[in-house]
Amino acid sequence: MTYEPIDLLDLDSQLTGEERQVRDAVRSFVEREALPKVNEHFRAGTFPLDLVPALAGLGIFGASIEGYGCAGVGPIAHGLINRELERADSGFRSFSSVQTSLAMGAIHLHGSEEQRERYLPEMAAGRILGAFGLTEADHGSDPSSMETRAVAVGGGYEIKGSKHWITNGGIADIMVVWAKLDDTVRGFIVDTKLPGFSAREIDNKLSMRMSVTSAVGLDGVVVPEDCLLPGTKGIGSALACLNQARYGIIWGVTGAASDCLTQTLEYTKTRHQFGKPIASFQLVQAKLADMATALSQAQLLAFQIGRLKEAGKLHWSHISMAKYNNARVALDIARTCRDLLGAAGITDDFSPLRHALNLETVNTYEGTQHMHQLVLGRHLTGIDAIS
Ligand SMILES: Cc1cc2nc3c(=O)[nH]c(=O)nc-3n(C[C@H](O)[C@H](O)[C@H](O)COP(=O)(O)OP(=O)(O)OC[C@H]3O[C@@H](n4cnc5c(N)ncnc54)[C@H](O)[C@@H]3O)c2cc1C
Repeated sequence: MTYEPIDLLDLDSQLTGEERQVRDAVRSFVEREALPKVNEHFRAGTFPLDLVPALAGLGIFGASIEGYGCAGVGPIAHGLINRELERADSGFRSFSSVQTSLAMGAIHLHGSEEQRERYLPEMAAGRILGAFGLTEADHGSDPSSMETRAVAVGGGYEIKGSKHWITNGGIADIMVVWAKLDDTVRGFIVDTKLPGFSAREIDNKLSMRMSVTSAVGLDGVVVPEDCLLPGTKGIGSALACLNQARYGIIWGVTGAASDCLTQTLEYTKTRHQFGKPIASFQLVQAKLADMATALSQAQLLAFQIGRLKEAGKLHWSHISMAKYNNARVALDIARTCRDLLGAAGITDDFSPLRHALNLETVNTYEGTQHMHQLVLGRHLTGIDAIS
């Protein structure tokens, strides 16, 4: 293992032995198996499904869940998993976030004991893949206006509507579908093989290419009664799952940014112009210094958010602050690194442009920068400026 993320504040010294073990296991998987596949899959617009058993073997799926065949690691180790995965590509972290925090998370948070026993061990083992269908084509930042409806029919529910931009939609075995039942948003575990379920790949993406993103049709899908997640009681139930996934993003994007900066530092020291390494120019050093400072602040924020989570003191306003800050910082770093790589930076010999393209999505999904600023603004002022 040669890669070491930039860690100017020596946050590494704060890790426990167990956290280091988790980090090293994921890092070595990334070096050996994930990174060699990234460019091929990013170009093709596909996800390397053959890596799913190895990801499961590392205990990545449902990592923070106790029991049910899951690893049950603490918040810092969970964050480190996301950081190492996203260092390779945001597509890996997205795949794992959806499986872990959104699909398994919804069943763990809102499911019955029987639902947890039935799905979580199989999902931890990667034998059942999950997706999370909240967004619709006309309802993104405002998912509570969703049009998808469920109605009770003999022995179950019929779901009609559609979902858009659904990660893993076309490869999932089950999807947690959010639909209004008697005007209340509820979650349903939907088997994707049921009649009426369809998934079409959105194949013209310039971002998050190593991730399957789908448009999903729910054309009168009838699910049995025991597919309703009993703990879901409104849009807040869906948002609770999203907050778990956002925690992973806060850490994950620091991995992508660190990868960009590591490559760019090396490049600027070896690339010569005007008879000198470009790293010797003051304007270049100012950019490198600004990026290292911004990355260190983002890493520190992720760490402290993890500590608050460990202590049971994490508030949703912390998540909003760190999600929008860290995604924006990582995107800025990736764009600046691309600039410092010159023409070479527009090829896939280097990662910054690929990371930047991916981070455009990360900046938007799970709540755009505006939405999280407004959530934090509401927390600070007590005034709702969202609607
Ligand atoms: C690759 C990818 C994968 C995704 N995966 C999933 C998934 O697995 N499951 C899922 O359910 N969803 C998923 N999404 C959807 C994602 O969560 C939404 O795209 C996101 O919530 C934003 O919604 P929107 O795209 O409709 O943008 P819009 O809501 O239309 O927003 C467009 C712009 O308007 C701004 N805006 C909107 N309202 C306000 C306001 N009140 N004040 C100020 N500005 C405002 C936004 O900030 C943004 O800049 C995914 C998206 C992408 C791109």
